[in-house]
Amino acid sequence: MKNNFILPAILVSFLFLFSACVSVQVKHSTISSVSSEIKKPKNIILLVGDGMGLSQVSTAIYYKDGKPNFERFHTIGLSKTSSASDLITDSAAGATVFSTGKKTYNGAIAVDMDTIPLPTIIEQLSKRGLATGIVATSSIQHATPASFYAHVKSRRLYEEITTFAPNSGVNFFAGGGLKFFNQRKDGKDLLAEMKAKDYEVITDQLPKTPSENNELILLAEDGMPKMSEGRGDFLPNATKLALEKLSKNEKGFFLMVEGSQIDWGGHDNDANYLIAELLDFDKTLGVALDFAKQNGETLVIVTADHETGGYTLASDGKDYNKIKPSFSTSGHSGTMVPVFAEGPGASLFNGIYESNEIYHKMMALFDK
Ligand code: MG
Ligand code: ZN
Repeated sequence: MKNNFILPAILVSFLFLFSACVSVQVKHSTISSVSSEIKKPKNIILLVGDGMGLSQVSTAIYYKDGKPNFERFHTIGLSKTSSASDLITDSAAGATVFSTGKKTYNGAIAVDMDTIPLPTIIEQLSKRGLATGIVATSSIQHATPASFYAHVKSRRLYEEITTFAPNSGVNFFAGGGLKFFNQRKDGKDLLAEMKAKDYEVITDQLPKTPSENNELILLAEDGMPKMSEGRGDFLPNATKLALEKLSKNEKGFFLMVEGSQIDWGGHDNDANYLIAELLDFDKTLGVALDFAKQNGETLVIVTADHETGGYTLASDGKDYNKIKPSFSTSGHSGTMVPVFAEGPGASLFNGIYESNEIYHKMMALFDK
């Protein structure tokens, strides 16, 4: 009977060896210039669905009345999301790849493995005179938006992240996070500093038209309310307002829009929460695509930092005519995430590549 154990024993040790061999490997086949046949965009809108894997996107097909805006994209790629420290990334390292092109450790906000600050796409474009904006349904200090304008060693340092806002060069902020400006442990009033830097500070409601000045729109103390708690059309409307404002810049613009709470629905293993947030994000894609179609010089990119929840659209028991969404983790997963692109330069986003290549592709398209 001893022989019965040999094969399983070999298999188990092989699997152990194999899993031990799977480590983070970041290959750099980075794009440095774009062929002259490819038309370059003047503007880029990057929309990040935090925690949005392919099952989350598929939700738009099954739960939206009408055709999802995801289906308006003609170029699709896949992004490999591992961070430099972990096979499964968090949202800080997952956004730092988009903002700086560098894979770093989980928890890092636009700093490298040695906690050295990395220049962000917003800082670089802002220096070149382009307009820049950040819109999120979390606080603007949360990992994803923070990685575009702050440099701190840990994502939890919300008050320190906020100190980067006055000199960030970002022309338009919209989201939550008021308390980190005016109810700080160090007693500083960062709203006053923002005003001194030409920011109009708005905390009551989203304005109908953009201001001539920089804008800091903070409509919640911390994260924005959930869709189910009455957030309404904040995300599509803030995106519309940002586009109206930033497109006045003759040199072009870069706008980052985050559907932050798709991730939170995944962490909560709450399918209704996730679906409502995903559909709000899909609606926002419509705003970006409509603008780009009319504008003709704008590239729209939609992707995610990672998947959250191990979300699946499995059948309800044996009933294949019924979907019962389920989760396999309350954390993130290592599955590849989709990248959608539409507009000048979109073809660069075909294929399978490391997540940090998205930054290099965007910068190559901005290089004149
Ligand atoms: Mg996020
Ligand atoms: Zn998450």
